[in-house]
Amino acid sequence: MSGNKTLIMIKPTAVRKGFIGPIMAKISEGGFKIQAMKYMQLTLEQAQAFYAIHKDRPFYGELTEFMSSGPIVAAILVNDNAVEAWRNYIGATNPAEADEGTIRKLYGTSLGENAVHGSDSDENAEIESNFFFSATERF
Ligand code: GDP
Repeated sequence: MSGNKTLIMIKPTAVRKGFIGPIMAKISEGGFKIQAMKYMQLTLEQAQAFYAIHKDRPFYGELTEFMSSGPIVAAILVNDNAVEAWRNYIGATNPAEADEGTIRKLYGTSLGENAVHGSDSDENAEIESNFFFSATERF
């Protein structure tokens, strides 16, 4: 059975460009409910820990430096089959290849700076949610 939670982030470039509001509107339009949310800047060490599953990939250094370069929004979203529903809603990793109307197509800048994150499995949604939020920060 699929879970109903996913961990998302609005990445630094999208925040810098003023896209928090439009992306929050898309979250609402898509039927996703917000269980938890915070506006913060990751340290490099926190970004490295969050993306530890990618540590052997060639873009790990670039990715973690970018993700700690400015403030982000992190949130736990709730919906039916949330992990897959959010990934479909945001579009392909590379905004240039994402379908029209998806969040990455609308608000992404490049492959690395692709506007938003979404968990890739229920297991990682749980791990990533625990990375950002305690029980008292969830509603
Ligand atoms: P996702 O699940 O669609 O986010 O994609 P992946 O799990 O493959 O990659 C995680 C994140 O790493 C992506 O969202 C991108 O921000 C970043 N990324 C992936 N490939 C590259 C790359 O070739 N260069 C850089 N700089 N970042 C990348």
